Amino acid sequence: MFIIPRTLDEWNQGKAEQRLQDDPTFLAWRDRHPLQARFWLAFCRHYDLGFEAFHQGDAEQARVHKAAMKELVSWLDDEVPRATETPEEAFTRLLEEGFSNKRAFKLAKTSPTRGKGRPVSVRWPALQAHEQKLQDDRSWRELTAEFCRCGQTKHARECQEKLRLQVVVLKKTIQQLGV
Ligand SMILES: [Zn+2]
Repeated sequence: MFIIPRTLDEWNQGKAEQRLQDDPTFLAWRDRHPLQARFWLAFCRHYDLGFEAFHQGDAEQARVHKAAMKELVSWLDDEVPRATETPEEAFTRLLEEGFSNKRAFKLAKTSPTRGKGRPVSVRWPALQAHEQKLQDDRSWRELTAEFCRCGQTKHARECQEKLRLQVVVLKKTIQQLGV
């Protein structure tokens, strides 16, 4: 069973990435979820590098790797607490999600995530869609039907655009964080 090494002793006996690679449950799961598996391996790699930096007294580097871990998890976690998101925060987020200035401004003011309880992640569906695209090269139309969360039974062109844009952001993350 995979366990993240917490103490220096544990860590010296086996780094997090190696432990995950040696875990038979993970290896079996990886066949079906190759991209998610790469994210978890990258997570462990950043954990190891951050752990090493911390123990060498390099707090700045440790922070860099901690931030990378947080970013990686944000793609894997469906729970995005945005209930207190201000219009300014919504605007910034929408820009990051690939919307134009004008569109982001309009959406931020009428953001459906405001005051409506738990908002849904746009990252998690994008990760799953991209994974399926890599495995089976399914069409964007199919992927949108499966992963768009607009709540409509028939998806607009905008839905497909939104998903594709999010996958572009995902690909950048994959490059930047060495997934
Ligand atoms: Zn939709």
